[in-house]
Amino acid sequence: MITAKARAVHGPDKPFKATEIQRRSLDTHDLLIEIKYAGICHSDIHTAHGEWGDVNYPLVPGHEIAGIVTDVGPEVTKYKVGDRVGVGCMVDSCGDCENCRKGEEQYCLNGMTPTYAGADKYGEPTQGGYSTHIVVIEDFVVKIPDNIELDAAAPLLCADITTFSPLHRWEAGPGKKVAIVGMGGLGHMAVKIASAMRAEVTVLSQTLNKQEDGLNFGAKDYYATNDPQTYDEF
Ligand SMILES: [Zn+2]
Ligand SMILES: [Zn+2]
Repeated sequence: MITAKARAVHGPDKPFKATEIQRRSLDTHDLLIEIKYAGICHSDIHTAHGEWGDVNYPLVPGHEIAGIVTDVGPEVTKYKVGDRVGVGCMVDSCGDCENCRKGEEQYCLNGMTPTYAGADKYGEPTQGGYSTHIVVIEDFVVKIPDNIELDAAAPLLCADITTFSPLHRWEAGPGKKVAIVGMGGLGHMAVKIASAMRAEVTVLSQTLNKQEDGLNFGAKDYYATNDPQTYDEF
């Protein structure tokens, strides 16, 4: 076992406390990752408060993880010590069902393993990225390119993928119009991605408070939904 320092919550209305958790010893395809940054996703907060169902406390949230590989299992082929890597919201799946075989492990018919608040294949509770180290099977780790700082990369592992997915699926690109509703944590990522895909982007935000940011991120138009005039203009 590998001892890692972590921040855990011990109950739905308890504060975070410093603690130590055990990570499993490396199995054949496991990586040991020294976590440098973990984004704070609102899902972490919901789960910590027990708002999404019963939680086995203590709980270590965090599924926007960026770090460095510090050890590899004996049959790891994709990574080596020193690689810059990220881990998102899941860390394993059956690998065998129809959906896993299609590369859609998030829809694993036997249930994917969430990065925290789940159980791994050894029956141990999974604990997330508010921690110094994590052990993850190499297939559930992504490489972070050298030109992205690790702190900037961390939120891409959840907020960015959440918005990239529909834009990719509906083929946002030149000649397509995309409206982003809300300029929050996810929305501002969506504006950047859709603009990078060269779609024509409109932001629909409650107010114009973030208009300058939205336009800087690549939006062509920016409307306030609390302004009745907005709908006349359409
Ligand atoms: Zn998230
Ligand atoms: Zn599966």
